[in-house]
Amino acid sequence: MALKTALVGIGKIARDQHIPAIEANAEFELVATASRNAEVGGIPAFRNLASLLENVPEVDCVSLCTPPAARYSDAKLAIEAGCHVMLEKPPGTTLVEVQNLASLADKAGVTLFASWHSREAAAVRATRDWLKGKLVREVRIDWKEDVRFWHPGQDWIWEADGFGVFDPGINALSILTAIHPHTLVVSEAILSIPENRDTPVAARMSLHDPEGTEVSVELDWLEEGSPKWDIRIHADEGEALLSDGGARLLIDGEEAMSGPDREYHALYECLAGLIASGSSDVDLAPMRIVSDAMAVADRHVAPPFEW
Ligand code: NAP
Repeated sequence: MALKTALVGIGKIARDQHIPAIEANAEFELVATASRNAEVGGIPAFRNLASLLENVPEVDCVSLCTPPAARYSDAKLAIEAGCHVMLEKPPGTTLVEVQNLASLADKAGVTLFASWHSREAAAVRATRDWLKGKLVREVRIDWKEDVRFWHPGQDWIWEADGFGVFDPGINALSILTAIHPHTLVVSEAILSIPENRDTPVAARMSLHDPEGTEVSVELDWLEEGSPKWDIRIHADEGEALLSDGGARLLIDGEEAMSGPDREYHALYECLAGLIASGSSDVDLAPMRIVSDAMAVADRHVAPPFEW
């Protein structure tokens, strides 16, 4: 029988990706939504998760598509009600709150899935496989997009707990930490923060690992036109370019792998597998890098940002 699923935070990602992915997967059935201002046609709608759980107690699974700062209290509520929980990325505001959710889920015997959609992009696994046994000398990440196009009017993203340019940038870090087997240390970070906002519009970071791999990261939210979501890997035996946000892999300039976007279909398949096996998946490595970058960063004032 399908898992009765509730979706919380009906905004861009819920509509663009979660609803189609749930509809396409017979293991899930969307039975209710909770959102302060939005509804999904034909689905029972509630203004918050507490009233949803009170009125639809048969819910098995809650998928949280709210901004990160709104997630902890809802995730806790859902776990305490005995529901499996899927978290959008980044899984929370602080590392400890997500660790706390993981331990609550463990005690309650439910699944907690801190999802990283970019890890499901078509060429990420092929890149990880190509890297096996190779020595990575250098990685360069360019993650540049137009915030006005990709996050129109989302003011929460500029608030202190909204991650700023790390909201998309953490997608690159989720791929990096999935394909690179060693823990990365942030050596340096420079953040550009608009004078009227709390979070960075651009960031530069240098990272390294104990094996001598050097990683440079450039995040920019004022890139107009086509986004650039590239990871270049210089290994001892060749060069890989993972482009289009992980959808396309070129090895030494030759296309090695590409595929359609089915990141969210894959996430829900993964969630079904975790629930069936009684396990959780909570990997905080991408968030740890952002947290460390914030801790060591030099902060520069950038011109004010207006939509
Ligand atoms: P969004 O369009 O702003 O939608 C989030 C919804 O959550 C809002 O519409 C709002 O609906 C609800 N909400 C609840 N508490 C809120 C609060 N304190 N502040 C603002 N909204 C609140 O954002 P989104 O783009 O869907 O992003 C949501 C999450 O998905 C983020 O963590 C983001 O990183 C992730 N994500 C986004 C994309 C993307 O392309 N946009 C891609 C992948 C992942 P109500 O007002 O009805 O409550």
